[in-house]
Amino acid sequence: MHIVLISTPIGFLGSGKGGGVELTLNSLVDGLLAKGHKVDVVAPNNSKLFEDSKKAKLHIVEGEEQKSWQHQDYYSSVVIPDNSLLSKMVEKAIYIGKEADIILNFSYDWLSIWMTLNINIPIAHIISMGSESFVISNLISNVYSKYPNNFAFHSKIQASDYHFIENPIVIGNGFKLSDYVFQECKDGPLGWVGRVAPEKGLEDAAYVAKSLGEKLNVWGIVQDESYALKIDKMFSKGILEWKGFLETDKLQKELGTCRALLNTPKWNEAYGNVVVEALACGVPVVAYKRGGPSEIIEHGKTGYLAEPDNKESLLSYLKIINKIERKNCREWVENNASTNIFASKVVSWLNTVIKEYQS
Ligand code: UDP
Repeated sequence: MHIVLISTPIGFLGSGKGGGVELTLNSLVDGLLAKGHKVDVVAPNNSKLFEDSKKAKLHIVEGEEQKSWQHQDYYSSVVIPDNSLLSKMVEKAIYIGKEADIILNFSYDWLSIWMTLNINIPIAHIISMGSESFVISNLISNVYSKYPNNFAFHSKIQASDYHFIENPIVIGNGFKLSDYVFQECKDGPLGWVGRVAPEKGLEDAAYVAKSLGEKLNVWGIVQDESYALKIDKMFSKGILEWKGFLETDKLQKELGTCRALLNTPKWNEAYGNVVVEALACGVPVVAYKRGGPSEIIEHGKTGYLAEPDNKESLLSYLKIINKIERKNCREWVENNASTNIFASKVVSWLNTVIKEYQS
């Protein structure tokens, strides 16, 4: 199969601004290449693919980024700036896509989804968020009524945000196991990983660390400066240990030393890459029973699922975190979320879409 991927128009690959999509795209490329498929990636200027994904052809496009939907009002209109990066990426993907079997879109945005209705080349979409925009959700609904197989989701609970979808195609996610080293560190510190932005609920994790009289290691890009400042001011010095945004190899080395990862999203997290990355290092996760993490974590086996927004519930589970066998965590990833498993699901889904266009 020859597949053209459209990356996120929010940030370049490697910037961290694109969130989990950046790692997901790289993992998928790696899995597709290993299966012998031909892959082109259309991505913003400065993007870099991971070492193992470099056999894919990278097409760089320059232009003005889109604004992330989760940081706009739900009822905002679509804004496409002059010199739009998104439109240039779509244009480029269609140009290359004429010679390919399918275009696979990772951008959660209007133009790329709308194009499905207007060209003969199959465009499939990996929807990376829950419903974060009225306009986009309605557009998905319109396109879905004509092309129900062109959409896939990371988790069932994410797809449930789109009420019109009855039997969602759920593809999970994939992680290159050899990039994550298992560590047996039952006495390590507490960790939190994510974009520092309101939907990620860092303050709840910091509260738990404070209650335990411990520091919380925080890895990730500060996407919302004023939110980060507010959280920093809320807690006394020594609670929040800002570690910055690290590349996967460095991140997993440090994350693997933690005795637990706290995951405290306030939104319907589509999947939660950081949860699986922690598990891959043997780190159990205490998360709110909400969004993707609630389908990933096996309560009592690979971590605990706390009552959403209940910090005391989080705290109570952290106190018993050492009951979790760290090897269970790694095993879950090996059995459920390798790049091979992920790429197999995506390939079988894309084959269905391609066949429909041929009939
Ligand atoms: N991440 C990273 N370095 C860091 C912190 C985070 O590479 O220091 C990456 C992490 O590997 C994950 C992504 O940021 O792939 C966050 O994805 P997630 O699905 O957890 O949340 P999203 O940002 O998509 O909402």
